Amino acid sequence: MDIRRGIAVSPGIAIGSALVLDTEGVVISRRTVPAEQLPAEKLRLFAALARAATEARSRERILTEQIGRDVGILTGHAVMYEDATLRRDVEKLIDDQHYSAEFAFSRHIRAIIRRFDDLPPGHDFTRLRSDFFDLERQVLNQLLGVVPSEPAPPAGEPVIILAADLTPSETAQLDPQTVHGFATESGGPTSHTAIMAGALEIPAVVGIGRFLHDVSSGDTVIVDGGSGLLIVDPDPATIEKYRRLRQAATQESDTRVEVTLRDVPPVTRDGVRISLLGNIEFPTEAVNCIERGADGVGLYRTEFLYVNRTTDPTEHEHYEAYKAVLTTLGPTRPVVIRTLDIGADKFSSASAMLTAEKNPFLGLRSVRLCLKNLKLFKTQIRAILRAGVHGEVRIMFPMVTTVMELRQCKSLMAEVVEDLEEAGIPFKARIPVGTMIEVPSAALMADVLAKEVDFFSIGTNDLVQYTLAADRNNENVAGLYNPADPAVLKLIKMVCDAAKARDNLTVNVCGEMSGEAMFTPLLVGLGLRQMSATPRKIPEIKRAVRNLTIADAERVAFEALRMETAREVTTYLREQQRRYSPDAAD
Ligand code: PEP
Ligand code: MG
Repeated sequence: MDIRRGIAVSPGIAIGSALVLDTEGVVISRRTVPAEQLPAEKLRLFAALARAATEARSRERILTEQIGRDVGILTGHAVMYEDATLRRDVEKLIDDQHYSAEFAFSRHIRAIIRRFDDLPPGHDFTRLRSDFFDLERQVLNQLLGVVPSEPAPPAGEPVIILAADLTPSETAQLDPQTVHGFATESGGPTSHTAIMAGALEIPAVVGIGRFLHDVSSGDTVIVDGGSGLLIVDPDPATIEKYRRLRQAATQESDTRVEVTLRDVPPVTRDGVRISLLGNIEFPTEAVNCIERGADGVGLYRTEFLYVNRTTDPTEHEHYEAYKAVLTTLGPTRPVVIRTLDIGADKFSSASAMLTAEKNPFLGLRSVRLCLKNLKLFKTQIRAILRAGVHGEVRIMFPMVTTVMELRQCKSLMAEVVEDLEEAGIPFKARIPVGTMIEVPSAALMADVLAKEVDFFSIGTNDLVQYTLAADRNNENVAGLYNPADPAVLKLIKMVCDAAKARDNLTVNVCGEMSGEAMFTPLLVGLGLRQMSATPRKIPEIKRAVRNLTIADAERVAFEALRMETAREVTTYLREQQRRYSPDAAD
């Protein structure tokens, strides 16, 4: 039994057979062969490539049956094994250098991988790198006669995906019926992969560090998404313990928390109503917000319209998606539609608008990209305004860094209104406009931005990364990336104060921070009266709200703001959580 610790990103327990999607390298030592053996060495290579191609095609068939849809990755590998240029290049190395087939193949593939490392950053080559490592491994297995120790799990059986990394779009395509959990070597706590896992309610652990070498497809594994553990080859007692935990968790979420809390309002003990909204990525999740007792949708991340496609969505596609959400939520529940936030780690290869950049997180992402591609931006705004006739729509702009950007967005909206009026197309003209506060400059300028909008929504996922200069996707700086950091708290306080001074402008927090009950007293104490979290978290946050008084919350915020380190703040907030919500699980 081998226990690995990573970052817990989506709670729940999954027990099942591992499906290893890719892995990196074996090191082959340099070996040469005498000249008379070269023809035989080349024949070994060709035979290994042919066998690897046949095997890739048959693994693809099994995978397709397991996942329930065509993955295509392994068929792509088969085509590469059969590629004439690849074969010729490796053959040349054997002829010219007298390398063994293993060393020649490994050397050639490593040279290709090194070329990816030299390309300008901006495009995500992680997937391609892993593909080439996988190609290398499969061909070396063939050459060395290594038979994978365990067969892949039988078709139709639930699997737990283990991978170096999964992109947000790959995660979005996982079918929770078949994929019961996943664990990855890289990734950070608020990466979009993690957010997707939460939305799909698939238990997940990311940022484990290297482990794929020590596990094979077919091994029994446990993913404990609450504690951030991956257990490979668990002993029978551990399996039994986790089965019991899984059963208890299912009963708890079905009965105690959700059902008892769904229909009660999120009101503090002294009668202050807090609005709890849901974050969604897909229209189909709108119903989850209602089932979990949300007051509306606080963040609809529309970039997920790019899943499974490489072209920009049409106005009609935007419109239909928004109409579906608004219709589900009905005439009284607000729906905040956020304009496209593509770029950086999100669908960076989807839109033709995106180009390679050295540092995409600081580059042309999100509203910056939209303001450079007005056609794309106007298409989306038109669809939002048109869909507005179906419900209580609000529009929100992401990644706003300066007041000028916000003014540009608003004037573009005004142009769209004029166009729609002229064309006589039905739409809602006066809809509340909000800005996300997720860049430190926006928090610092909140008093100025407040004059331009109807509401703020603090995106702590990005605010933490930009304040602490710690990539939200990078497990190596996950210790630094912390919403409890005093610098982050000061910025949130600044935003709340600016909103209060502006006639109590509505402020929401829609980053993952608002889904953690530990932060509820602090956020309410800082002045937040609205929070938006993944729907699954709403009952828990509601319970935390109902255990509080505003005076308690203000005292917690006051104390936390005096602290100097994230660790002090976290310890303090955990103590307070135990004090105010003794019934909440630790
Ligand atoms: C955020 O940054 O907190 C946020 C809600 O936006 P996203 O996670 O989609 O970047
Ligand atoms: Mg963000």
